[in-house]
Amino acid sequence: MTPTVEYLEERFDTFNRMCFDGALPRIPIKLSRARTFVGRLVYRPVRDWRGRVVRREDFVLRISTYFDLPEAEVEDTLIHEMIHYWIAWKGIQDTSTHGREFRRIMKEINTLHGRHLTISHKSTPEEQDRDTRVRDHWLCVSQLADGRTALTVVAKPRIARIKRAFRWSPTVRSQTWYHSRDPWFNRFPRCRSPKLFPVDPTVLQPHLDGAEPL
Ligand SMILES: [Zn+2]
Repeated sequence: MTPTVEYLEERFDTFNRMCFDGALPRIPIKLSRARTFVGRLVYRPVRDWRGRVVRREDFVLRISTYFDLPEAEVEDTLIHEMIHYWIAWKGIQDTSTHGREFRRIMKEINTLHGRHLTISHKSTPEEQDRDTRVRDHWLCVSQLADGRTALTVVAKPRIARIKRAFRWSPTVRSQTWYHSRDPWFNRFPRCRSPKLFPVDPTVLQPHLDGAEPL
């Protein structure tokens, strides 16, 4: 789906009531065409004379419409950013961007409201580049019928199922599979169902050079 501002504002109010006791003040929600994030919260830290952050202001929540995500994922992205907002607005000290407190709230919302929030929608390119853990990735690079290139990082037990789904998908013209340990792929969610993340092929190519074709 492609969300509108009105839709996101209505969802914001609903999730605010459901998950945050209606405590979060409304903030501007803006749409973006960025490919580097799905959701992102920006704000301005206000510092005292010692340079310590005393509060945060000018919150803006951005949601990218570049990715065609299912509605549940758009909602999960919005709630994910609302957790960032809650932590920043309350001035809660967390251990990292998606630290102990972030995960505690995320887990609570997942359990209480049956959501599937993850920390994989990383908010900034810098944050994504800092995730340098070496892990195994199984990837599918698809050429889409509209000429775009898409990437899917797949949970290993789902490879056969997703391969089959793409073979029958009118959106996917061809698919190539790889194994890679390049941490660059950490930024993509590990899919258990067929999803396509459009990527810029010139950005992707260097990361496929060291990959092993499956
Ligand atoms: Zn985040």
